[in-house]
Amino acid sequence: MSEYDYDLFVIGAGSGGVRAARVSAAHGAKVAVAEEHRVGGTCVIRGCVPKKLLVYGAHFAEDLQDAKRFGWEVPDCKFDWPTLRENVLAEVDRLNGLYTQTLDNHGVEIIQERATIEGPHQVRLASGRTVTAKYILVAVGAWPMVPDCEGAEFGITSNEVFHLEALPKRIVIAGGGYIANEFAGIFHEFGSHVTLVNRSDQILRGYDMQIRDRLLQISMMKGIEFRFNAPFEKVVKQGDGSLLVHMKGQEPVECDALLFATGRRPKTEGLGLENAGVELDGQGAIRVDDYNRSSCQSIYAVGDVTNRVQLTPVAIREGQAFADTVFGGNPHKVDYGSIPSAVFSHPPLAGVGMTEAEARNKIGSISVHTSDFRPMKNVLAGRNERGLYKMICNAETGKVIGLHMIGPDAPEILQAAAVAVKAGLTKQDFDDTVALHPSMAEELVLMK
Ligand code: FAD
Repeated sequence: MSEYDYDLFVIGAGSGGVRAARVSAAHGAKVAVAEEHRVGGTCVIRGCVPKKLLVYGAHFAEDLQDAKRFGWEVPDCKFDWPTLRENVLAEVDRLNGLYTQTLDNHGVEIIQERATIEGPHQVRLASGRTVTAKYILVAVGAWPMVPDCEGAEFGITSNEVFHLEALPKRIVIAGGGYIANEFAGIFHEFGSHVTLVNRSDQILRGYDMQIRDRLLQISMMKGIEFRFNAPFEKVVKQGDGSLLVHMKGQEPVECDALLFATGRRPKTEGLGLENAGVELDGQGAIRVDDYNRSSCQSIYAVGDVTNRVQLTPVAIREGQAFADTVFGGNPHKVDYGSIPSAVFSHPPLAGVGMTEAEARNKIGSISVHTSDFRPMKNVLAGRNERGLYKMICNAETGKVIGLHMIGPDAPEILQAAAVAVKAGLTKQDFDDTVALHPSMAEELVLMK
C-alpha cells in the first residue's frame, strides 16, 4: 500500500497535463487530474483548434471572390456568424469528449474541480476535500493579460471571443503578437472593420523582419488599420453601447467590440505554490530544471505555466518527457532547438530557426537567399499578394539555420521543410532536390 492517495496528481487537463496523465497511467501509475474548466485545455477549448476553424471559415471570403476569375458563377454570398460559431463550438464539444474518453480509457481519474497546493504532497480541491500524491504536476497553463486602464472591463479576451453573440461591425484588437494578428485577419475577412492597436511600433516580435513587414503591408492593403506606439489610456462605454478607445498620442477609435490580445501570463496566482516552496520567476512562471522539476522535489511543472515556449506541441513534449522520466524509467529532456511556429494570418506566415537579425548577431558570417514571388493562383485571381520565402545559411558550412515564409499554405510547407533544418541540411541539399512543379514549395529548392 502506498502512503499516498495517488502516485501522480495533475493540476490542469490541457495539452501538457493530459499527455502527462495518460502516459504516466500507461506506465503503471495511479493518476488523477483536476480540471476547473473543460478537459482539453486552452488549445482544444479556446485556442488553437477553434481559432484555426475560424481561420478556415474566414478564408472562404477570399476563395469565393477568387472563384469568379476561375469561371465560377458565385451568387452574392452572405456570412452568418452564428452558424460558424455553433459548428465550431460543437466540434470543440466533440474533442472535449474524445479527450475525456482517452483519460477514462487509461484509468485516469478526472476530478472536475479547481485544485490548489497545500504542501509538497497535498492538494486541496474546491469542494474542500484534500488528497495526497507522491508527485504533483502543475500544468495550469496561462491566462490572458489585460492592460491596467480605466474601462478595460468592457473588453473581451480570447476566452470570450469564440462565443460572441454577434459579429461586431467595428472591432479594436489590442496587441501585436500572433493572436492579435490572427484575429485581425479573421474579423476582417468576416467583414468587420478592424483596427489593430499596439503599444510598440512593430508586430510579431521574434519573427523575421522582412516577413512581418510583408504581412503588415498586405494587411494594410486589405484595409486593416494599424495604430502603433499607442498605449491604452481608457475605454469609455457610450450610450448606444459602442466603445470609445482612448490611446496616448492618438485620436480615439470607436468600436463595437474590443479584444485584448496582449499576452498570456502563467496562471500561478492563488495556486498555493508558496505552501510547498515552489519558486517562481519575475513573470510568475514556475522555475523548473531540464527535467521539469521545480524547486520542490515532489512538484513538477510543464507547459505554459513554465513560460518556456507557449505552444501546444511543446507542452505535449514536456508532458511526455515528464511521464517517461518519472514513471517510465527513461529520463529525457525536451530538445528546444528548431521549433517551427506559424501565424495563421491572411496570408499565413511561418518560421523555423534563426531570423536574419539573430543569425547576424550570433554567427556573423551568413548568406541570405530569398524568393519573392506572386503565387500562380494569385496571378489568375488578380490578387496582388506576393509570397516571400527566406533562407538563412551559415556562410562557412552552408547549413540552413533559418527558414521563414509568408504566403498561401506557408505553415503546411514549413512543417515539412523544418525536418530538413532540424536535420542540419545545407542549401546544397535543398538545391540538389528536384523541384516539384508547379508548386509554391518548389521555391525552396530554386532559391538564388
Ligand atoms: P492549457 O492547455 O492552458 O491547460 C491548462 C488547464 O488547466 C486549463 O484547462 C485550465 O482550465 C486548467 N486549470 C488552470 N488552473 C487550474 C486549477 N487551479 N485547478 C484545476 N484546473 C486548472 N499553440 C499552438 O501551438 N498553436 C496555435 O495555433 C495556438 N493558438 C492559440 C490561440 C489562442 C487564442 C490561444 C489562447 C492559445 C493558442 N496556442 C497555440 C497556445 C496553446 O493553447 C498553449 O500553448 C497550450 O494550450 C498550453 O498547454 P498547457 O497544458 O500548458 O495549458
